[in-house]
Amino acid sequence: MPDTVHSRWTLAIHGGAGSMTRDLLTVEQDAGARAGLSAALDAGEAILRAGGSALDAVEAAVRVLEDDPHFNAGRGSVFTYEGRNEMDAAIMDGTDRNAGAVARTTATRNPVSLARAVMTHSPHVLLGSEGADLFSVEQGLEQAGPEWFATPERLRQLEEMKSRSGSAFDIDMKYGTVGAVASDVHGHVAAATSTGGLTGKRWGRVGDTPLIGAGTYADDRACAVSATGAGEFFIRIGIAHEIAARVRFTGETLDQAAQAVFAELGEMGGVGGVIMAAPDGQCAWLFNTTAMYRGSASADGARHVAIYGDEG
Ligand code: ASP
Repeated sequence: MPDTVHSRWTLAIHGGAGSMTRDLLTVEQDAGARAGLSAALDAGEAILRAGGSALDAVEAAVRVLEDDPHFNAGRGSVFTYEGRNEMDAAIMDGTDRNAGAVARTTATRNPVSLARAVMTHSPHVLLGSEGADLFSVEQGLEQAGPEWFATPERLRQLEEMKSRSGSAFDIDMKYGTVGAVASDVHGHVAAATSTGGLTGKRWGRVGDTPLIGAGTYADDRACAVSATGAGEFFIRIGIAHEIAARVRFTGETLDQAAQAVFAELGEMGGVGGVIMAAPDGQCAWLFNTTAMYRGSASADGARHVAIYGDEG
């Protein structure tokens, strides 16, 4: 059956949730992050406006954020305890619930595109560590050395964390994972998320981002969700799938479903945020941190870029 063509599409993105306040971010960090979010919206919007797929749009938006050192994904990823960059990413197509993900990848310039290659060109959903790196080379994806990913600011954050002997679950952490959700004119949704994880992570730790149903989920029967925040809580809740399941089975709006799940998250002590998009062109976000780098665009020309909680 041919797809129904809607005049509506929507795109929402995040660049991480955390404890950012106006006095904590420098003028450059604030303006740089907003410019990065706008550029990511531009990339995704160009695809959606031309009638392209939500899947292509979320990948394009996330690639822009991965290349931008203001965010904890791709270039600018946080460091592990041993001083390495190990990146996780996932992408999911709501059309058929096909999904691909990678964990602890170290050498692919755009981990989200590696996740898409896993989805499209392998029989698997999740590849990890050396195997993911090897698959990336075999797929001919652009490779990058450690110097591409590493930034002085992330090194400073690792040293600061070590000097406080801080825990990876410190709620003062400024998360910086990136993600995108979209619905296209064909009524399909997609989600993508990419991250360097948590500063000082050890022992091969993998967060929620590449786990389908935790940090990333998309289902045309409900919505697309991308999460950022304290990954261990998101894994335990299966937060992205939980929100989609509520929308699908209870008929709750995106906002109602997210509020209900965040009530549980809060009780468990988890912090973070989600962005959501539904096939009918609605999008929403919710976070229980003081801030979340975020943006949205839609077919009616509306554009929104914000960081702090009081920006709406
Ligand atoms: N959720 C990510 C993780 O736990 C971190 C983040 O969102 O910044 O790896």
